[in-house]
Amino acid sequence: MKKRISILGSTGSIGVNTLDVIANNPEHFEVWGLAAGSNVELFAEQVKKFRPKVVSLFDTSKIPTLKKLLNGQKVETGSGRSGSVKVATAADVDVVVSAMVGSAGLVPTLEAIRAGKAIALANKETLVVAGELVMEAARDRVPLIPIDSEHSAIFQALNGERRSQIKRIVLTASGGPFRTFSQEQMETVTVEEALNHPNWKMGNKITIDSATMMNKGLEYIEAKWLFGRDVPVDIIVHAQSIIHSMIEFVDTSIIAQLGIPDMRVPIAYALSYPERLDSPLPSLDWTTLSKLTFEEPDFERFPCLQLAHDAMEMGETMPAVLNAANEIAVQAFLDRLIPFKEIPEIIRMAMNNHNPKPVKELQDVLDADTWAREEATKLATVAH
Ligand code: NDP
Ligand code: MG
Repeated sequence: MKKRISILGSTGSIGVNTLDVIANNPEHFEVWGLAAGSNVELFAEQVKKFRPKVVSLFDTSKIPTLKKLLNGQKVETGSGRSGSVKVATAADVDVVVSAMVGSAGLVPTLEAIRAGKAIALANKETLVVAGELVMEAARDRVPLIPIDSEHSAIFQALNGERRSQIKRIVLTASGGPFRTFSQEQMETVTVEEALNHPNWKMGNKITIDSATMMNKGLEYIEAKWLFGRDVPVDIIVHAQSIIHSMIEFVDTSIIAQLGIPDMRVPIAYALSYPERLDSPLPSLDWTTLSKLTFEEPDFERFPCLQLAHDAMEMGETMPAVLNAANEIAVQAFLDRLIPFKEIPEIIRMAMNNHNPKPVKELQDVLDADTWAREEATKLATVAH
């Protein structure tokens, strides 16, 4: 039977790649629901091509345009957060691809879990903000398969192994476009330079996160929730992005997953697990691969790494504050309101000004998220 898929964030980089995987495997998958933010033109094209049963555009003001572009095509349509939740929980859906950007993905993903849907998770912010709640909701009920390439690599390396035999996880990081930049050079980098990632083509927010290395900080937290808080997670800079991450076991054996840097590989794996699908993508060419390099990450030049470690250590609502302050600071940088080096400063100040509270229910993290957005917005206004 075909798996019925809903995609949250279908117009984004992961969403478009997911639709490409589905289009290449029509005998395995069927698009059941699509949700996006405001890119109505691309969204309408997707709805016309894939003919889902239920759709939602977060931006309510674009719904009349969507209807016009769909030219009479009948489809159940929602908007706002409730529309995303509808797509995430629609009765016949088997797998929900969680690929919105930012903490906006949290509520629909959690609702999908509660509705018993298998989750293919790209939206790492969901785990950063509410790891405990999300893991608790999913435990023994629904599979939560990572799409993030590092976590997919770890998941694959763990296949058939016992978690109790992990000695440590080694998360690889490309180091981003400023891997070799000095502190001084980083003071004057432009938005264009920061958006120019050496190995991956991704959405703007995660591309800036890669430049500050906050992406690896968020992934550190993501790995802790997915694979066990007590499992040591080390980060190593591997500029070529060929080894996607690895596990060292108690006997010092290391199992790594390697491949071309193309998100369609971990997306296809998350959708087809435990099967593997034939892929039209090229094999890794060992003859042109001259060398694989490894270096220590520099926590001083990339303070976001330390901030993420600190937030996880402090726990409670602090990771939600780290994430929300980062989202605001990254957007302020993209809007050219603050310089690049202010991003970690804003996050640091927001964290310093926050009194963490225990996370007992969803509202606790939503409140921390709202507070941190307001706080970081104030800090960003002062900074420019
Ligand atoms: P993009 O910015 O390319 O896409 C984000 C998607 O989310 C778009 O479809 C956007 O809609 C939608 N969206 C944003 N806000 C809302 C909202 N409030 N309600 C509904 N939809 C919304 O991001 P990416 O695809 O790059 O990343 C998505 C997630 O996957 C992130 O969490 C990222 O960290 C993670 N990830 C991405 C990787 C990549 O290679 N890109 C790799 C690993 C993880 P619209 O554009 O229509 O407004
Ligand atoms: Mg990643």
